[in-house]
Amino acid sequence: MKLILLGAPGAGKGTQAEIISEKLGIPTISTGNIIREAVKAETEMGKQAKAYMDAGQLVPDQVVIGIIRDRLAQDDCKNGFILDGFPRTIPQAQALDEMGVAIDRVIEIHVSDDQIVQRMSGRRVCPSCGASYHLEYKKPEKEGVCNHCGAALVIRKDDSPEVVQERLQVYHAQTEPLKEYYQKTGKLRVVQGQEQVADTTALTLQALEDEA
Ligand code: ADP
Ligand code: ZN
Repeated sequence: MKLILLGAPGAGKGTQAEIISEKLGIPTISTGNIIREAVKAETEMGKQAKAYMDAGQLVPDQVVIGIIRDRLAQDDCKNGFILDGFPRTIPQAQALDEMGVAIDRVIEIHVSDDQIVQRMSGRRVCPSCGASYHLEYKKPEKEGVCNHCGAALVIRKDDSPEVVQERLQVYHAQTEPLKEYYQKTGKLRVVQGQEQVADTTALTLQALEDEA
């Protein structure tokens, strides 16, 4: 299964990607996580990407396309993968097509802007391993502490309310057109993001089953 998860920032793509990834035994590829790792490691790419990310802007297409090209060439992607946060622009989708990647399904997790803003305020992340949590919807086992590595959870810099507004605008302007792009291929299914994570998962799995 080669799956793309679309959706506004904070719609719950990452959370669903993690769950489905485990269920299907295929890797999740999150460009956001890969870029954050590079920022933390202060690589050349990370240094370039940081300013865009902090401002809520997209990192240039050529950079993320390169990341994806390298990642998809790795062995564990042979039996499928979940793309979380890529593509985010039409040129990125075109690049994926040009790589000869045959996507099976595109799922948009739809959440209204108002809900997004509300959800983002509760988001917390692990600065060490990148796992994400939510104060209401996806609580860590121990308050304020990462389940996986025990690090203290923090608020992501680009989850501040002003940057969230910017990211939403960027989403509507640059990423939303992908819905039409994939609508035309017949691969797109829209899932309404539910309050409970498990309810969204059920709808998402259903949308995977009716494979065209
Ligand atoms: P979210 O889905 O919550 O917005 P991500 O972790 O996917 O967060 O992305 C965070 C930031 O990383 C984006 O705002 C952008 O700067 C950068 N980024 C991630 N994926 C892409 C992409 N495909 N194209 C350009 N920039 C990206
Ligand atoms: Zn962690």
